[in-house]
Amino acid sequence: MDAPGVAVSENRTPLPDPTVGPAAEDNSAAQAAVDVVNDFENTDPDAGTPDTPRPVPGQLVFKAARRGKPPRHLADTDMAGRREMLAEMGHKPFRAQQLSRHYFERFASKAEDMTDLPQDGRDKLVQDTMPELLTTVRTLQADGGDTVKRVHRLFDGALVESVMMRYPNRVTMCISSQAGCGMNCPFCATGQAGLTRNLSAAEIVGQVVEGIRMLRDGEVGRKEQDPLRVSNIVFMGMGEALANYKATMQAVHRLIDPAPEGLGISARGLTMSTVGLVPGMRKFTQEGLPITLALSLHAPDDKLRDELIPINTRWRVDEALDAAREYFDATGRRISIEYALIRDINDQGWRADLLGEKLNARGRGWVHVNPIPLNPTPGSKWTASRRGVEQNFVERLRAHGIPTTVRDTRGSDIDGACGQLAAAS
Ligand code: SF4
Repeated sequence: MDAPGVAVSENRTPLPDPTVGPAAEDNSAAQAAVDVVNDFENTDPDAGTPDTPRPVPGQLVFKAARRGKPPRHLADTDMAGRREMLAEMGHKPFRAQQLSRHYFERFASKAEDMTDLPQDGRDKLVQDTMPELLTTVRTLQADGGDTVKRVHRLFDGALVESVMMRYPNRVTMCISSQAGCGMNCPFCATGQAGLTRNLSAAEIVGQVVEGIRMLRDGEVGRKEQDPLRVSNIVFMGMGEALANYKATMQAVHRLIDPAPEGLGISARGLTMSTVGLVPGMRKFTQEGLPITLALSLHAPDDKLRDELIPINTRWRVDEALDAAREYFDATGRRISIEYALIRDINDQGWRADLLGEKLNARGRGWVHVNPIPLNPTPGSKWTASRRGVEQNFVERLRAHGIPTTVRDTRGSDIDGACGQLAAAS
């Protein structure tokens, strides 16, 4: 699920044509979407073509056309798996610990810097366990260099984006979980391009390791600033992370497990974003991790949400909110509701009231709302709500006792909509 600001897709762009009017349609489009989903679920995943097919409106894609697996990397597995991997390759299992220190503690990338490894065969050992999975093909900066957005090319030519945002006391990274996305939200550049493939755990983690190296090397923010560690990670780049569940959870563990098994980032600094893939939300609840869950709602009523978020045709607003509340009950982590405010589409006062009522019907103190000014795509007729309308929406929510904070939209001058930059590369 994309997010607001730089890397985020929800806040980014145009929505359905108001002259067509999401609310003007009956439910036949929704049924058609479900039918297409079923067709895709019955499709042999190996039968895909190398080119990513563009989805038709409302079409959901859960299985990508496969393009082969990325090279194996030690970040794909935990320490026990790494020992097995090394043993299979004919190396001593303790090399797993040494290699892990280089990758997860020192963020080394060059074999010649790993002098505790035997010189004979060192290059091959490093190449076989830590192959370069990401090649940066484009870098853009905004906010005086404090925001850096990068496009990475993967082994098969697929492109993904990551963004680093530096604040006075923290550094947040927005990372991608899929190349493209099958959720097909009509306002999202990534969704319009379709799902190319799932990322591996190491490809997801690699975006963060690359970011840490950039910070270490003084490539983010002003030179005189103290280097900081990456403290916050949001799964709000390209893709719906819960649709790539296994690799996403492996990546989560690589991020939060103590070094050298992982990067040792606090789970409380992670945010998992979803458009409301309810079975995935329930599974994620069972993980029992203190990670923040962000639900990209964008509409409190099914009629509009069916248009804005096609997955709503499978799991309705109430089901997604119930699953979110269950997550709060299990983890104690307050839920974030993301709501991109789009002029004359979803910004009416009655929708703020309906949202407030639906949230309060599930209790108090479990949720806060982040309205996000839409970051329009160039040439789009969809745009952000008027300032007064935005203010009214926020006040109506607050009148219901819902904590509400308008979201910062960093880097909106650098192809803010996730997927735009990759598409242009
Ligand atoms: S299409 Fe995918 S990436 Fe885009 S907003 Fe929807 S879930 Fe997020």
